[in-house]
Amino acid sequence: MSKSSRSDCKESDSEPLPIYHHKSKLVRAVKDSAFLVVTGETGCGKTTQLPQYLYEAGFCKNGKIGITQPRRVAAITVAQRVAHEMRLTLGKEVGYQVRFDDCTTEETEVKYMTDGCLLREVLADPALSHYSVIVLDEVHERSLNTDILLGLLKKVFSNPDKASEGRRRTFPVKCSFGSAVGPKDTESSGYVKEVVRVALDVHTSEMAGDILIFLTGQNEIERACDILYEKAETIDYRFDVHDQTVEGLLILPLYGSMPTDQQRQIFQPSSRGIRKCVVATNIAATSLTITGIKYIIDSGFVKQLNHNSRIGLDILEVVPISKSEAQQRAGRAGRTSAGKCFRIYNNDFWEKCMPEYTVPEIQRTSLTGVVLTLKCLGVHDVIRFPYLDSPEERFILEALKQLYQFDAIDRRGKVTKLGELMVEFPLHPGLTRAVLKAASYRCPDLMLPVAAMLSVENIFIRPGHSQKQKEADERHRALASKSGGMNDFATLLSIFHFCKSSEKPAAWCKENWIHWRALKSAFSVETQLGEILYRLQQRSDFPFESFDGNEKNKLRLCLCAGYFTNVARRSIGKAFCTMDGHGSMVHIHPSSALFENEKDFDWVMFNDVLVTSKVYIRTVCPIRYEWVKDLLPKLHEVDVYELSNVAREEVTEEEMAKWENKEAAKRRQEASAEEA
Ligand code: ADP
Ligand code: MG
Repeated sequence: MSKSSRSDCKESDSEPLPIYHHKSKLVRAVKDSAFLVVTGETGCGKTTQLPQYLYEAGFCKNGKIGITQPRRVAAITVAQRVAHEMRLTLGKEVGYQVRFDDCTTEETEVKYMTDGCLLREVLADPALSHYSVIVLDEVHERSLNTDILLGLLKKVFSNPDKASEGRRRTFPVKCSFGSAVGPKDTESSGYVKEVVRVALDVHTSEMAGDILIFLTGQNEIERACDILYEKAETIDYRFDVHDQTVEGLLILPLYGSMPTDQQRQIFQPSSRGIRKCVVATNIAATSLTITGIKYIIDSGFVKQLNHNSRIGLDILEVVPISKSEAQQRAGRAGRTSAGKCFRIYNNDFWEKCMPEYTVPEIQRTSLTGVVLTLKCLGVHDVIRFPYLDSPEERFILEALKQLYQFDAIDRRGKVTKLGELMVEFPLHPGLTRAVLKAASYRCPDLMLPVAAMLSVENIFIRPGHSQKQKEADERHRALASKSGGMNDFATLLSIFHFCKSSEKPAAWCKENWIHWRALKSAFSVETQLGEILYRLQQRSDFPFESFDGNEKNKLRLCLCAGYFTNVARRSIGKAFCTMDGHGSMVHIHPSSALFENEKDFDWVMFNDVLVTSKVYIRTVCPIRYEWVKDLLPKLHEVDVYELSNVAREEVTEEEMAKWENKEAAKRRQEASAEEA
């Protein structure tokens, strides 16, 4: 059986897309209104067609057409598609820009980009003077950056006009519940096996038509594809399903960091007799429309960034989807004919675990980056900013507190010099702080690769097979000890260099069970971060300082500047206790080089947290208390009530002086208490 079949992209659909019938009305409406809302069924052509209509209508004469997407894959894929439809070269007239990947030139007139990229452009040019039209796509998804962009635009425009494309008739989709996932099942191994089982069942018993499986992320998707491959090999293809011969299964993964040539295959119609099975993240729910899908298999889960107030950090978690999301997923099967949706969870799960609607990102993630951006845009009162849905005030205060801790804002809530530098980096503020620290010591090459490695998706291959897993683990442990051992950040740094200096980097990766693709991205990210840094270092006020510590500890000292918020101290047994005021009990993750050697360290610093039955810290290194001694008090220094006042109004000099005196007294007290 051939697993991959190639056929040319359809040049154009024989039947025009629904949006086509509203072309002139839409162009007119865009011309006539300052602010326009366009609604229409998923797949009707909003994303790919509307910008083309505007292009044809001459909107590019005095500026670019900018279209934002919450997800990078969508921005890239759609730009490719549009360039193809317009018969233009991608990167010239039609281009895209996503974090760490700019495929545009001076000539670019239709520019697809992530909402984060546009937000950055607003920073540099608040009037967006290079654009004649901005299309904010997928507004309903309520991504943090799109929400902020809308808020910013709302300040400029009011009274939006609405243009509705009219609901397109969709075909009925018959939904059925399964029995595999109930309110108590959250282990992903369980539902991965189940979706595979259902997919094979559909493949061997249902009429022709492609399958779309919803899972939550790269690892799961690759695992599901592996099992599918294995099982599909053993299928005996001498059967006819309802008179339509299905002879093979073409298995295609679809997730955020996939190489684009692989993504293209997803949209190609499958050849006769071959059933396509796309295994995707939530991206296939709205952002990308794949034609020919007749069967949906819904795991019921999604990966979501949530702020965990118990431990005070943002965590990427696998959570049940909302009911409205489940309906959206099911709808993907009824675009061209009647379809079926197999939900692998039971009714109890639907009733008890799935919320009605998805909570907007702004109400569930850390706002640190956004608040700094707003402040740099001159929005002082970040509490009364016209958010679409205001985040809880405590989240805003939490963000202000963090920015203060990183020295990005001062006690009056004003952006500092350092804050102005920090906002330039598309990274978490703590990581940015560490990068800038290394740069100020004139050794940026110590932190840039680490930051790059932490910005790309998981570099370690974790094969599902247990024998291979052992081999991979051994390789990874060997890499850790080759880099001095007992410091996961240093291991990342060495892997970066080992691979980069290798004559055959791809082979080196294979041998060491490292994702070559992830490393390639890391190389490119490192270059781009280096370019940003180089530009900033040209400023006359770049804060260079001398380093007078032990060279051996330099990396960890730089890390401390940004990660002192993620410090934990030995508690009972193998447990550590975080020092950020939450005092959560955490354990070192088995993937860390420090695992099983926990006893040797009293203080550790970590990059991220994984919550399963326990709270694990990942990417860890030991530190000394002296390194963070002066930084830790900052975690408790600011009083949120005072910050809340700072956020609302300019504080007078007099009030500041009073406050500072009080703080100084408090610190003296603490210091003497510690000595005692
Ligand atoms: P909307 O934004 O309204 O949801 P789109 O503009 O994304 O709709 O899609 C319109 C149509 O174009 C869909 O039928 C979809 O299948 C098709 N399409 C979009 N991207 C591609 C692609 N890369 N290859 C082939 N067809 C595509
Ligand atoms: Mg769209």
